[in-house]
Amino acid sequence: MTRQMDESALRERIVRVMRAMIDKGLNRGTTGNVSARCGDGLLVTPSGIAPEKLTPDSVVFVGAGGKTREGSLKPSSEWRMHAGILARRPDVGAVVHCHSRFATILACAGKPIPPLHYMVGVAGRPDVPLAPYATFGTEELAERVADTLKEGFACLMANHGLLVAAPHLDRALAIAEEIEEQAAVYWGTLAIGGPTLLTDAQMADNFRQFGSYGQKR
Ligand SMILES: [Zn+2]
Repeated sequence: MTRQMDESALRERIVRVMRAMIDKGLNRGTTGNVSARCGDGLLVTPSGIAPEKLTPDSVVFVGAGGKTREGSLKPSSEWRMHAGILARRPDVGAVVHCHSRFATILACAGKPIPPLHYMVGVAGRPDVPLAPYATFGTEELAERVADTLKEGFACLMANHGLLVAAPHLDRALAIAEEIEEQAAVYWGTLAIGGPTLLTDAQMADNFRQFGSYGQKR
């Protein structure tokens, strides 16, 4: 379920997630962007501002038709991609995009992540698919990513990076971190002859186990 939060709390959380991506080694410099659903629009990180200089006020509200508020900064060049996913996926409340190293290596090699470990399932399906290439910042890229992410919470973007769309920001960040780890594991197995994949039945068992995993509150 999408966690409801007021706008100022969401702005703070977006800044925290952008900084956390740097701390966790998922991003560098001004790459990557984060958004969260906010009313009938979305809040998204601004274009070209390094996370250490980001403030809650610099996060940009993008409303219907891509309209921003007067005096706001320019939204991330990938705002269409964020808006497209949020529009098509009512179960999603936050989108995280990064160029984390191992996910990007696989994305540049045209290799989706197969079901090689049960933790691949944190993204809500047995694999992590690969969205076809399109130029960054374009409507075409937004459409290709949204088409690839009809189900599940993560996809690779060909020759570009990783995208995670999840019910809320904290979960999106956690999934991005785990999928980057799975990308590294897959990359490692490719160096020693390739992975032994889990079967559909084994992954189905894993999804059943996920249902009883962790603390119930
Ligand atoms: Zn990017």
